Amino acid sequence: MSNLKLLCKILRLKDMKITQFWFKNRNKELHLAVKPYKNGCRCPHCGRRCPIVRQATEFRHWEDLTLMGLKVLLGYSPKEILCPTHGRVQEEIPWAPAYSRITYRLEWRICSLCQIMTQKAAAEILVMPSSTLSNLLHRIITRVRHEHKIRGLITLGVDEISFLKGRKFATLVYDLDRSRVLWVGLGKGRETIDRFFNEHLSKGQKARITWASCDMSLAYTEAIKHHCPKATLVIDRFHVVKALNQAVDAVRMEQWRALDTQGRKVIKGLRWLLSLHSRNRTKGHTRFLNSLRNSNRRIHRAWVLKDEFEHIWHYTYRGSAEKFLKRWMTAALRSRIPTLRTFVGTLRIHFDNITAFTDRNLTNAVGEGLNRIVKIIKNRASGYRNLHNFADMIYLTVGDLDIPAHIPGNLRTL
Ligand SMILES: [Zn+2]
Repeated sequence: MSNLKLLCKILRLKDMKITQFWFKNRNKELHLAVKPYKNGCRCPHCGRRCPIVRQATEFRHWEDLTLMGLKVLLGYSPKEILCPTHGRVQEEIPWAPAYSRITYRLEWRICSLCQIMTQKAAAEILVMPSSTLSNLLHRIITRVRHEHKIRGLITLGVDEISFLKGRKFATLVYDLDRSRVLWVGLGKGRETIDRFFNEHLSKGQKARITWASCDMSLAYTEAIKHHCPKATLVIDRFHVVKALNQAVDAVRMEQWRALDTQGRKVIKGLRWLLSLHSRNRTKGHTRFLNSLRNSNRRIHRAWVLKDEFEHIWHYTYRGSAEKFLKRWMTAALRSRIPTLRTFVGTLRIHFDNITAFTDRNLTNAVGEGLNRIVKIIKNRASGYRNLHNFADMIYLTVGDLDIPAHIPGNLRTL
């Protein structure tokens, strides 16, 4: 077997021929002059064999996977061909996408590594600067997602996420049936969500959305009502409970500030206990909370209201749920606790959309699950400086498009 054939075998360059090889850069780089094995050049658009009109334009390099720490570069001079349908074009390069500086194999490696680790770690393994890697990844994702259309969206979820240490926000749009992220946009206001509806969904698609779920921010609810008039909007349960917990915790904090050291001792450790769902409490916890009735009436009152509120999720008939919620709101108003009154105000605004959960038990739980993955991605990289990189990683791991699957199958070797 000749050296060239052996190299070809080792590097698994199927359907390719190595014509020459040489080392460069103090033997750290292996350069290979290659050419598509079978004779005849093909049109990149239709795959047809076409006559060459201009021989070599320039000698180009494509970076391939490293071999035992050696950087491997493929070199070839693409020819210009004349396709009867597509005219004068540059021939198709089977090992790399058009305008790319790296091969499909390296692209696939980058994608599969970035799905499971940080860009920094992947860059370390692939021996390249992490800025280069994130640029390459961004190119791959932009190319694959280019002209990608959202399909079959029935249940929409909208949520926000912070990045850059909570200083910036992004809006995530989910397909809750498929539990995938459809879109990531910078900002959390009405403009951001409008951009999604205007740029990514057709009129028919908006009309086909039957269910929608989001938090209690008016920007989202109003936008959903405006763009998807046929959709039943269900406020995400998780966010309602979160808002209530915050209101209850505000009572605790207010009491804490007002009390002296002796009084504080009594309500110590309550913060966590107050936010606990009743089914997760032990008997001891409940006894302690009940004892507050004598020691701190105000916190006790807030806690009882919070506990009662949990019952709403057991209702299956809308009428009963509405009745319950109304009764609860009256009781909360009577408690004369300002934060709870504010909470009741919010409930009043979203009343119909909260009780809509009886129509379909739709929570962003799937979305929240995704949200958790997104947060892991975020924490893994200890924050992103810009949305580009962050969005790339979201699309790559939980996006609606399987990005590595768009790389030709025969070139997905590691
Ligand atoms: Zn063609």
